[in-house]
Amino acid sequence: MRFSPGCWAYLECGGMLLKLGVLTSGGDAPGMNAAIRAVVRRGIFLGHEVFGISHGYDGLLKHRAWPLHLGSVADIIHRGGTILRTARSREFMTPAGQSQAVEALRSMDIAHLVVIGGDGSLRGARQLGRAGLAVAGVPATIDNDIAGTELSIGFDTAVNTVVEAIDRVRDTATSHERVFVIETMGRDSGFLALSAGLAGGAESILIPEVPWDLDAICERLIRGHRRGKVHSIILVAEGAARGFDVAAWVEQLTGFETRVTVLGHLQRGGSPTATDRILGSRLGAAAVDALHDGGGGLVLGLRADSVVGLDIDAVLEDRRPVDRRLYELASVLAI
Ligand code: ATP
Repeated sequence: MRFSPGCWAYLECGGMLLKLGVLTSGGDAPGMNAAIRAVVRRGIFLGHEVFGISHGYDGLLKHRAWPLHLGSVADIIHRGGTILRTARSREFMTPAGQSQAVEALRSMDIAHLVVIGGDGSLRGARQLGRAGLAVAGVPATIDNDIAGTELSIGFDTAVNTVVEAIDRVRDTATSHERVFVIETMGRDSGFLALSAGLAGGAESILIPEVPWDLDAICERLIRGHRRGKVHSIILVAEGAARGFDVAAWVEQLTGFETRVTVLGHLQRGGSPTATDRILGSRLGAAAVDALHDGGGGLVLGLRADSVVGLDIDAVLEDRRPVDRRLYELASVLAI
């Protein structure tokens, strides 16, 4: 998508070297650092200046920006979190806050911005785009709920973290012959629980997108127990129910001793997998290329292993559906 010739970012861009800003916003996701590194190095490779804005939109409102050089992003590709830090900003969600953010960018002479973050962060980026800035969004969220892209940065690492937790819990569940309920993150989406539940062989997976029936879950547990199954794992996405509630109901209906593990923030941390490092590198570099080519108002994404530029409105108006076939497969295999 081309940037409109009427706006100030376009006027400053035409063939000139750019002053690019980059920020990370919302929840941190492993692989954000790989994306930052790619923005900086691709930007410098193309002859542009790159400025890092710390603490997301909150830092932008406070003019917290500094130049990034090749060495600024050395030794970060393997690190979780984000060297730019991240934040959530209520102030930025107001029209006054957004005007202030645009003024902050103008005063720093930054007309081109790469926003790395989840759905909310991309909504913020769209607002800046509407105010005349050239903005490219890079989807990074362990929720993997951004429409248009088949994968968001951080998801693969988080899935592997949850699978490792399931494997560990399974050992103790077997030893004590218990039912374990494991609660995952994901806000109102079930991608993380579904993928990790399938990979970890969970007996039941509760996600917000698919109605679940507690009686059926308990019947399955009882059937398994009669067949000699010594443990069971129920994976619950936080958007579907609270793990402690599910455990209490299951114990009440089956009489089986049930324990709960809420994985919480450990799902966000850790060294990114190769998949997330490669995705961060590809999307970060592609965001710079899009801005370099005069584009804006877009989100970079992955489709059939190709990086594509997606219209930001189309991305944000859509809701990414979970793959029901995966859900059905997980149910059949855990019979
Ligand atoms: P995650 O998926 O990890 O939670 P996220 O980017 O969706 O990441 P949010 O807290 O939803 O996280 O959004 C991050 C920030 O983006 C918010 O604190 C706010 O400053 C800004 N933001 C969110 N929604 C909007 C919106 N509708 N308009 C403008 N800015 C927004």
